Amino acid sequence: MGCYTRGAVIPVQENIRLAPLTTLGIGGPARRFARASTEDALVEALEVAGDAGWPRLVLGGGSNLLVSDAGFDGLVLAAAIGGVTFTEAGDGTTRVTAGAGVNWDSLVSACVGRGLAGIECLSGIPGWVGATPIQNVGAYGQEVSDVIARVRAYDRQTADVVELSAADCGFSYRTSVFNTTARGRYVVLSVTYVLRDDAPPAIGYPDVARAFDGRAAPPSLRDVRDAVRRIRASKAMLLTDGDADVRSAGSFFKNPIVDESAAHGVDAAAGAACPRYPADGGVKLPAAWLIERAGFGKGTRRGRVGLSTKHTLALINRGGASASDVLSFAGEIQEGVEAGFGVRLRPEPAFVGFPDDVVRRFGAVSA
Ligand SMILES: Cc1cc2nc3c(=O)[nH]c(=O)nc-3n(C[C@H](O)[C@H](O)[C@H](O)COP(=O)(O)OP(=O)(O)OC[C@H]3O[C@@H](n4cnc5c(N)ncnc54)[C@H](O)[C@@H]3O)c2cc1C
Repeated sequence: MGCYTRGAVIPVQENIRLAPLTTLGIGGPARRFARASTEDALVEALEVAGDAGWPRLVLGGGSNLLVSDAGFDGLVLAAAIGGVTFTEAGDGTTRVTAGAGVNWDSLVSACVGRGLAGIECLSGIPGWVGATPIQNVGAYGQEVSDVIARVRAYDRQTADVVELSAADCGFSYRTSVFNTTARGRYVVLSVTYVLRDDAPPAIGYPDVARAFDGRAAPPSLRDVRDAVRRIRASKAMLLTDGDADVRSAGSFFKNPIVDESAAHGVDAAAGAACPRYPADGGVKLPAAWLIERAGFGKGTRRGRVGLSTKHTLALINRGGASASDVLSFAGEIQEGVEAGFGVRLRPEPAFVGFPDDVVRRFGAVSA
């Protein structure tokens, strides 16, 4: 272990395996690894790495990553900044500010416990607060962009700590400036969410509404949180010990957004109407529907990888899988869907340590 430091002492370990730090359980070593638990330590580590010319990867809970078998030849920095504050605004809302390293589901639980509405349907999503703005985390009818007021970040371009408004973040479906136009520029230090005091939970999403079918009393925030976690567990979308289907990065493919004519082409090729929802000026098609109709049903296996038996979109490590195994199966699915329906699926997890041409070929983003 070395200590690369200016002011604060930041222990830097070498050749640390990344696989155990990801939910897929795949990936080679990080050449260097450090964990920063304060803003100052994180900024300092970034600056030291910058001065030394090391490539940098900011890591949260590792639940949205595909790490290459070669690993990462640079500094992997876990943004483990803690701390949560609740500030009543006096207008029926509370501003909740959480450090980048706070566990997301623990934050949701604390907010639900205080009667704060706005993120109850995002219960059970793995990972840390700092990653929530990156791909505008969403589920069951809610997205963090609905409630984010401010993102405090270190700007690597100007070497300043900046405050970004929700508008600055450029949120849309599973994207933001953080994973598109300003990819790699900002390191999130903390996020402020504005939640509604004593407001009813969101139960508009069909799966959630169904959970309360036939019930006379309106569900509480806690009821909705519990229902969402149950639904997630039934789809292996909740990290639960002993369930082989949860060794995934969640949904491996994004739902594609296409124009109406492409959607009609899908209907014609499938001989059935593909479900669709308006999104970002086009229509969003369910990737799971396309994958299943292209011949990849739940539980499809390819050696050490496969699709979850409970969720078509989750590509799982069945034990001892490599990143190459994942890429080979993901490529087969992409080609099958494209050949069948003319739609190219794009991976949702960020790719780490792959050559640029591989990232481009898969239509992925680098972390
Ligand atoms: C079982 C399962 C279910 C899931 N369900 C959902 C779901 O319903 N909806 C959904 O949207 N996602 C879902 N995901 C994906 C994932 O949980 C989220 O994207 C989560 O926000 C990732 O958080 P993380 O801390 O694990 O990020 P990581 O995987 O560690 O990192 C993801 C990306 O964010 C970057 N990053 C992380 N922290 C910071 C920071 N502080 N500053 C700048 N960049 C940073 C990383 O560099 C990387 O590019 C699921 C994943 C799993 C395994």
